Amino acid sequence: MRGYTNKMDCPYCFHEESKVTDKRKSPEGIRRRRECLKCGKRFTTYEKSVKEDLSVIKKDGRREKFDREKLENGIYRAFEKRPVAKEKIDKMINEIEEQIRKKGKKEIKTSDMGELIMKKIKKIDNVAYIRFASVYRDFQDINDFKREMKGL
Ligand SMILES: [Zn+2]
Repeated sequence: MRGYTNKMDCPYCFHEESKVTDKRKSPEGIRRRRECLKCGKRFTTYEKSVKEDLSVIKKDGRREKFDREKLENGIYRAFEKRPVAKEKIDKMINEIEEQIRKKGKKEIKTSDMGELIMKKIKKIDNVAYIRFASVYRDFQDINDFKREMKGL
């Protein structure tokens, strides 16, 4: 892909054409180092063309853009102080995101997403699972919690 040009405005002079000097995959999408063909300045772009339009349908029917960061935060919180390597958690998060997107759907219900996440977490750590489930399922009373514990 070296030397490949396409339209991506330069952030310095807003010229439309730039040369790609380096390209690699990153969690944020495809990362490209570019060099402006007019002013010669270098800049980095992240392109997530396929990752753009996944929405999450909330319980009340409202739609919201899928937010990877939100997903990560919820999961990291569940794993707080648990003896599980961050790499393992990140790998799981990647798998979750891939699985959601693989379904080829443009939208997913929060309930379906929650079930998928819980299934994954359960395989790794029971405590994290209970933490996530209690937030996610919004346990009404201690009996709900006990039922969930028994199910383990
Ligand atoms: Zn420029």
